[in-house]
Amino acid sequence: MSKTHVFQTEVQQLLHLMIHSLYSEREIYLRELISNASDACDKLRFQALTKPALHASGEELAVEVVGDSESHTLVIRDNGVGMTEAEAVEHLGTIAKSGTKAFLNSLPGDQAKQSHLIGQFGVGFYSAFMVADRVVVESRSAHVGSDDGVRWESTGDGNYTTERIARPQRGTQITLHLKDDAKEFAEPWRIRALVKKYSDYVAYPVRSPKQLTDEDTKKGATAELEQINTGQALWTRPKDQITDEQYSAFYKAACHQWDDPATRLHVSVEGTLSFTALLFVPGERPLDLFDRERRGLSLYVRRVFVMDDCKDLLPDWLRFVRGVVDSDDLPLNVSRELLQQQDAVPKLRKQLVKRILDHLLKLAGGDDTEKAAFAAVDSAFGAVLREGLVSERDSETRDKIARLARWRSTWTAAEKPEDDARRTGLEDYVKRMPEGQTAIYFVNGASAAAALASPHLEGYRRKSWEVLLLTDPVDEWVVQHFREYQGKPLKAAGSAQDDLASAEEKAALEERSKEAAGFLGFVKETLGEGIAEVRLSNRLTESPCCLVAGEGAMSPQMDEMLKRMGQQPPSRARTLEINPAHPLVERLQALHAAGSTDQAKGYVQVLRDQAVLAEGGRLDDAAGFAKRVQELMLAAIGAAPKVHKAG
Ligand code: ADP
Repeated sequence: MSKTHVFQTEVQQLLHLMIHSLYSEREIYLRELISNASDACDKLRFQALTKPALHASGEELAVEVVGDSESHTLVIRDNGVGMTEAEAVEHLGTIAKSGTKAFLNSLPGDQAKQSHLIGQFGVGFYSAFMVADRVVVESRSAHVGSDDGVRWESTGDGNYTTERIARPQRGTQITLHLKDDAKEFAEPWRIRALVKKYSDYVAYPVRSPKQLTDEDTKKGATAELEQINTGQALWTRPKDQITDEQYSAFYKAACHQWDDPATRLHVSVEGTLSFTALLFVPGERPLDLFDRERRGLSLYVRRVFVMDDCKDLLPDWLRFVRGVVDSDDLPLNVSRELLQQQDAVPKLRKQLVKRILDHLLKLAGGDDTEKAAFAAVDSAFGAVLREGLVSERDSETRDKIARLARWRSTWTAAEKPEDDARRTGLEDYVKRMPEGQTAIYFVNGASAAAALASPHLEGYRRKSWEVLLLTDPVDEWVVQHFREYQGKPLKAAGSAQDDLASAEEKAALEERSKEAAGFLGFVKETLGEGIAEVRLSNRLTESPCCLVAGEGAMSPQMDEMLKRMGQQPPSRARTLEINPAHPLVERLQALHAAGSTDQAKGYVQVLRDQAVLAEGGRLDDAAGFAKRVQELMLAAIGAAPKVHKAG
């Protein structure tokens, strides 16, 4: 008796796209199905380590792909772990991966763009519906008897059916009833070419019928199966025998990626610790980048698959790395829980971190192609990498991350402010430091353009001191922990204005401040609680005043973020610095001296509000500000001119 089930909404959404869009790259469905078959063989082999009965017969694990050009069907068969009926419902009726859900939600409305993205993304089993209008899955789990098989069937509309069947052989068989425009996929030559192109790396034999000559066909011969792929796990082959295309195909199929990698690292280490790692940095940000549980590493022990999403081998700040680690030093039956207790794990992790960072450092200092690869890694994952400056304990590792960190700066932005790719590292920054500059300065901003507009930069510009423009939220957090580089302290440009003045300038300013004490007191009184101190500054050149935070205080962007998260930012009464050389300030001082305090008060408030706006902050009393500006405009324009009425 068959049961009808309704697909999860996301699956329906996905299937709808599969069926109703046109795909340029729909041939990837075969790579997805073979990859699933290979995973199923991996799982059986792994589970049989602790439960030998699962694979007692010991027959070779393999995948078969057989087309029938008469009936326009294509069968993909494996003798892997199989599925129970419940598993079929769970795995072939829902989408578990958060990445896929996020991907669906992010799809643009435009059909053409959608199909392009889907073609690249590859969405596992469901991609079968790109070429088939009916899909039948017959499977039997290695854990149940031959009466407990399942037949799963769907035409890709809202429903599917399942039915209990008898199935003597373990494993899964998928039958695709090809669409009229997809009949070519049943042709032997087409199958062979696709397997070679996309699945050559698969560690199990992938077999398909030999191509028969016309002669053979006349004789009524049936084709025997032959192995098409090389059948050796890619990472176990010598590097010089692997092409870029093969690496890329492996990355897409085995790591479930859809882009091309920005860079790869293939290392084989023998010694007290022996392992092979084939690692990739994606070319684009994955959708689940900020899911800290996510890891893209699969762990193998002596060629046997043990687990995917292996969390213990890489720190959080390298969570964007994808690939395979094959260790000789772990027991085969290691589980996720037991893994943490293995002595080899921290050593392996340390080695992987070191290799990855050294590889990135090599790229950063390499030729133009390598530099371009590094720039791609930096622009997609630099912010994640910099989390390591906060969380990493090992000082040598932190030092390497610091050497890899890249930011925009007043120097890189000088020529092309809008070109985000022009970034600098601290090493180069330090080299450019002129005589007299002893610290590394930074300013935070929501964007490079906003940071560049900060009045805090005026004094630094005058002295030609470079200032880093920190625009990623993570950097707020980074600079609170990462306080110096090569003995040079990192300082917020806003709170380090003192550094800019010479001893004479400081003395002169002190003198001037004494003279202006009455005026400064008046300003402070006018602004009340929100301002801790009002003082003169000779660092400003264009602005009448600016707000300065205390050492280690949070930027207005961080404040905003806390407010949006429903938290009250720590109170930060700040200092208002006033430029005594600014004509506005001069007149205001005169106004105050002349006793027009009411008028002066209004102006002082507007000045303070402008300073808040200039650094990208938000006004607590925006309506009050607007009203005051209107009054000023009215006063400036004078009494309303007589409107000449016609007639
Ligand atoms: P993914 O493979 O990325 O997890 P799929 O949609 O391709 O996503 O497959 C969903 C799940 O269905 C798999 O994770 C697996 O549990 C199960 N599955 C698919 N194909 C097979 C197969 N040939 N044998 C056993 N299980 C399979």
